[in-house]
Amino acid sequence: MKQQTLQSELVIEGIGLHNGLKSIIKIKTAPQNSGIIFEHEGTQIQALYSNVSNTQNCTLIEKEGVTVSTIEHLMASLYFKGIDNAFIECSNPELPILDGSAKVFLEHLKNIQLKQQEAPRKYLEVLKPVKFEDESGNFIELSPPTTKGLHIYFEIEFPSKIVGKQIFDNLVTNQVFEREIAPCRTFCEKYQIDYLKSIGLIKGGSLQNAVVLDGESILNEEGFRLKNECVNHKVLDLIGDLYTSSYHILADVKAYRTGHYHNNMILKKLFETTDNYTIL
Ligand SMILES: [Zn+2]
Repeated sequence: MKQQTLQSELVIEGIGLHNGLKSIIKIKTAPQNSGIIFEHEGTQIQALYSNVSNTQNCTLIEKEGVTVSTIEHLMASLYFKGIDNAFIECSNPELPILDGSAKVFLEHLKNIQLKQQEAPRKYLEVLKPVKFEDESGNFIELSPPTTKGLHIYFEIEFPSKIVGKQIFDNLVTNQVFEREIAPCRTFCEKYQIDYLKSIGLIKGGSLQNAVVLDGESILNEEGFRLKNECVNHKVLDLIGDLYTSSYHILADVKAYRTGHYHNNMILKKLFETTDNYTIL
């Protein structure tokens, strides 16, 4: 496979989840081997795990005091659309939250023309198991691939029965991503929202861009889009975060109750030693 970029510019508009302000991104063509680069206020920030400086509620990259946040749903969409190189101008330090999933990004990206470049796509194959576990026993582990692709096993468990225990266990192909993962929205508990609002965050948050759980009920009238929407959204975040490796990772991934923090830590561990992987 060769690397690809966009043939022409793509503009996507929405609002930032926390500041509630208009957010316009312009996704542009970029030279081969440049990877995904965000730009805000004249500063370019490579979408790289080593530039991630905050993993609370979203993945935020930072350089010289300039930040761009909530990159994960777009990153996952670029990954599956096969975009290796892109330059993304951001009007707001927060990417548009849209409907809280990758559905809208993917719809926009579906209609664009891609340009094939000369350099081969960058693949990384995991050679040794690499594991990161936090003090609560939540963990993520990358192992050598049994399928020559990205196979994800993800398990979550919540006390409320409306979520309960959910498992995703599949090879993530384009079709699986489009049908089962991309439409799955961010979810949270109502009490978390009340708290975040009280400290001046999620000004742009609404039932239009998140699934909100309140004990044993769901506040969104339409309910869940998919039965396992919660765990599948965690898979979406994981795929987007793994793309901050700048590679298409070939591995079996096992994740238990993890989030952006763990996704970042596992990449740091993976790249600690070249014994862990090979570049294809
Ligand atoms: Zn997310």
